[in-house]
Amino acid sequence: MSVAQVPRVPFLQLRPAEDGPAVRAAIDRVIDRGWFVLGPELEAFEREFAGACGAAHAVGVGTGTDAIALALRATGIGPGDEVITPPLSATYSALAVIMAGARPVFADLDPDRLTLDPEAAAAAVTPRTAALLPVHLYGQPADMPALVDVARRHNLAIVEDCCQAHLATCAGRPVGTFGAAAAFSFYPTKNLGALGDGGAVVTDDAALAGRVARLRNGGQTDRYHHQDAGVNTRLDEIQAAILRARLAYLPEWTRRRRALAARYRAALTGAGDVKVPPERDAGHVYHLFVVRTARRDALREHLSANGIETLIHYPVPIPRQPALASTNPAECPVADQVCREIVSLPLHPALPDADVDLVAAAIHGSGV
Ligand SMILES: *Cc1c(COP(=O)(O)O)cnc(C)c1O
Repeated sequence: MSVAQVPRVPFLQLRPAEDGPAVRAAIDRVIDRGWFVLGPELEAFEREFAGACGAAHAVGVGTGTDAIALALRATGIGPGDEVITPPLSATYSALAVIMAGARPVFADLDPDRLTLDPEAAAAAVTPRTAALLPVHLYGQPADMPALVDVARRHNLAIVEDCCQAHLATCAGRPVGTFGAAAAFSFYPTKNLGALGDGGAVVTDDAALAGRVARLRNGGQTDRYHHQDAGVNTRLDEIQAAILRARLAYLPEWTRRRRALAARYRAALTGAGDVKVPPERDAGHVYHLFVVRTARRDALREHLSANGIETLIHYPVPIPRQPALASTNPAECPVADQVCREIVSLPLHPALPDADVDLVAAAIHGSGV
């Protein structure tokens, strides 16, 4: 078989491994109980996940995108409001703003952190701005103290997109606790992944948590009595049970991600034109390990020829996506340049040290 068919170093490995027995036991427990939606596993997971996040409440929903949209709605954001968000993220961050009925407005990146630049965010404020939606991209926290300051000066809410940042901290404080609410995704590739879709809203505000719990369930107050025009997006019992089992492994998986990132950093010093962006906060949880080079395509081709899978997160700035380009134009020159230079290297908790060394050696040998 050629290396093109079976990569020596695949980008990801999603099959349960050390957690396999616990995951299967969790699934069996739910099957045996015969209760599949809005039951005891979800309640327990919400309590346990809130605890892991250092927050008072968590509300499980169907996806991270729904978590962002419902966190915004429950914060009072809707039609007529603008939400300032970065141009580099999963496009779902901005789509969730639209789902909430509001308008995403893009402010450019801090060129070091690759997260929402507080000065650019302040400059994008208009009389319609209602909230900031920073994204802790790749697992590195945005500069939250500076963004909290911008929000205070302009009387804005903050909803954090923590979909890539489970257990991350910013200046020692858990991400997700800086604003009104925060959104997490449990898509299978995330640091805490389900075996399907999932998400959660995290907040210290009991009333806000109650509004999200109602909105995710069709806006029902009592059975078959609908108070708001909610949506149908619940985290089901099987996924909640799986996530409970995996939450126990998350601290160790996070340590492993950090150790692999440190190994990459050491191995990639002096690697030609390949630059490793600085770690601006020790609370970085390395959802992705992203390097930059002006010769990105040549580097990817060389790595691919050596059986090493890479991806680009993300190739197109969100305001340049056809879905948004016409309604939400924005000039974000930092994001434009970053999108031409970034490449994500394999990094997941099951990746052996030897594979990091192999990838680093291939980069040194690439001539880039
Ligand atoms: C994955 C992700 C989302 C969307 O989460 P889904 O669960 O796929 O809906 C939103 N924002 C960021 C930054 C993400 O990484």
